[in-house]
Amino acid sequence: DSGEEPLVIVGTGLAGYNLAREFRKLDQSTPLLLITGDDGTFYSKPLLSASLAHGKTPQQLAGTSAEEMARELNAEILVFTQVTAIHTGSRTLTLTSDNGSAEVRYGRLVLATGASCRPLPPIGGDGHARLFRINNLADYHRFRTALVGRKRVLLLGAGLIGCEFANDLTQSGYQVEMVDTLGWPLATLLPEAAGRDLQRALESEGVRFHGNTRVLRLDRNGNSIRAYLDNGEQLEAHLALAALGLSANTSLAAAAGLQVARGIAVDRYLRTSDANIFALGDCAEVEGNLLYFVAPLMACARALAKTLAGTPTPVRYGVMPLAVKTTLRPVTICPPPAEAEGKWHIDSNERGVRAEFRTEAGQLLGFALTGAAIAARDDLAAECVPVMG
Ligand code: FAD
Repeated sequence: DSGEEPLVIVGTGLAGYNLAREFRKLDQSTPLLLITGDDGTFYSKPLLSASLAHGKTPQQLAGTSAEEMARELNAEILVFTQVTAIHTGSRTLTLTSDNGSAEVRYGRLVLATGASCRPLPPIGGDGHARLFRINNLADYHRFRTALVGRKRVLLLGAGLIGCEFANDLTQSGYQVEMVDTLGWPLATLLPEAAGRDLQRALESEGVRFHGNTRVLRLDRNGNSIRAYLDNGEQLEAHLALAALGLSANTSLAAAAGLQVARGIAVDRYLRTSDANIFALGDCAEVEGNLLYFVAPLMACARALAKTLAGTPTPVRYGVMPLAVKTTLRPVTICPPPAEAEGKWHIDSNERGVRAEFRTEAGQLLGFALTGAAIAARDDLAAECVPVMG
């Protein structure tokens, strides 16, 4: 029994804070300690790629300060503090901040350490000071500040985040060049007809899409940068933004000897290979599912709060369609599992694309909808087989 030792949560992103909120609904007395390497501001990360069009500054995105969150949650919050080691035997953490190092004990520990931008592929040249990546509010602040007085943005990557930024920037008057190694936007998630439909909508607003190629070199060129693509093309821009995917933050867990796969491996109770340590959010791989979006982490926060408050509760995911914030052409996706056998059935016209991924026997395993076809979302969600029901 952990007695009155605190429940410690590492990370104050949507996973850490939502878990804390859910836990406090059920348990008002167990001491709660949250630790974060950043300033602990509560904000909606998904808004980062939609805030220009909403006329929001980075300051306006900052919802609630860590101080207010500490009051609301009746919790202690340590900001600008890194957890640098977990000692599972003594149930202690090593913390590092500008004040030096310290140790704290935990009763139970939850890792909500998120994910980081994947390392860049090798890109030559001397223009890297103008190459940005965005995975938190501080990154976004840097980008928005650099954007002042600029007009042209080169986007590396046409995945979810890249497409949303293309949509947001072009709607706000920026000229966008978009480069992806695959043939169409969202190519890992959408069949070609749906990806091309989105591509056309972005292009009709001035985005230039360059598929099946990559940036080899990024040079400074006076006030701007010049990108050299491997298809021989050269592009000019003022700034570059790389959105090339994420990888789960697992190193702290791995160094403590916890089982790690692509994410920190947990079961449906969000329990790691150590019985006192749990994980959720972008860092956690739940029974093999590593999902970098909000709906699964909310389901995990609700289930884990119950477990930590004394009622062991497995998480169920259900069907979780994701609305891509490409307002020029709304897209809703519910990707089939990676290893799923079946094929796309596509119904496409100028109003939108409806793509259903079905097994040979007709079972619906995933879908993708664009434009007016997103109206079918609820019907298809009701029929679709859940990832982890
Ligand atoms: P994070 O927000 O990354 O939080 C991690 C926390 O851990 C931080 O507080 C960090 O300081 C802390 N931390 C990490 N390591 C340590 C350590 N060693 N010591 C101390 N603290 C540590 N999802 C959707 O569902 N819909 C969308 O439309 C959508 N749009 C998005 C747009 C953008 C631009 C981005 C970047 C993501 C988007 N997502 C979207 C994904 C969604 O935002 C994430 O899935 C979610 O925010 C992840 O939350 P998290 O708490 O797991 O991780």
